[in-house]
Amino acid sequence: MNLEATLGLARIGRLYPSLILHGGTEETRREAVLTLARCLLCDAGPETVEAVEASRRPCGKCRHCKRIVWPDRKSDAFHPDFLVLERDLKTVTSVDATKALLRSAQVTPFEACGQVFVIASAETLSGEAANALLKVLEEPPGKTSRHFFLLAPSQFDLLPTLRSRSLALFLGTGPRPRGTELMKTAEGFGRALESYLQCRHSGELLAAAGALKASGQWDDARARAPWEHAAAAVLDYANSQPSQSNRRALLALASDLLEAPRLRLRGIPADRILEGCVSRRLAALPETRSCAP
Ligand SMILES: [Zn+2]
Repeated sequence: MNLEATLGLARIGRLYPSLILHGGTEETRREAVLTLARCLLCDAGPETVEAVEASRRPCGKCRHCKRIVWPDRKSDAFHPDFLVLERDLKTVTSVDATKALLRSAQVTPFEACGQVFVIASAETLSGEAANALLKVLEEPPGKTSRHFFLLAPSQFDLLPTLRSRSLALFLGTGPRPRGTELMKTAEGFGRALESYLQCRHSGELLAAAGALKASGQWDDARARAPWEHAAAAVLDYANSQPSQSNRRALLALASDLLEAPRLRLRGIPADRILEGCVSRRLAALPETRSCAP
């Protein structure tokens, strides 16, 4: 699921009640959740499925859209049905703060057609806080439309119970140094993929996977860094692609790579995982042009 599809669901009132927004930077996650909240609470009524393309939500002008802002901005704007919970202790979002937020989910919305709750650093929820939240997700009070957004650098920083109750939306890899190492990996990967797309030799697909493996330190099965490097290289290359369907497939591959450490921990060798991810996402991409005879 990408952000555009998610916004489409929010516009027609079909968004899953609990969503994890992960990846990207803190700023990307905040911007995404603000747009989603405006889509959900905007005064311009929910559109029919057919009218999604022409949808005006969020209108950006109504009394809801204008007041849905991130609370730490220097602005007086405030919306009583858009509630953000930020980390209240040094490294933890406490159970007390979480329960105080969740109490608002017991009352009817003040002004809008529903309520939006945001946990700004969901990776810092204490175990007890996460369980309190889970209870509300499992037994939502009343019939009011309520949406919970859990923001985190990675969905895998959240408890499995919370993940299983939520859909995850990946917003891309976070900020990273654009080292020459990364560019080299992206170029090697791109070259191999392009020749695969021209000639369909499966060896080229394996070479693309090999290019992703070339630069990392893969000895430690617990290391996330080589996977992050590979995902960043794939995204780097994706950004240079004019075809939207190719970009989508590459984005899906990058997301798979970030989730791959789990497979690695099950004892599967890194090159097998890389080859599996690459062929699953890219083998079926359309040919760019036929191979010269
Ligand atoms: Zn609006």
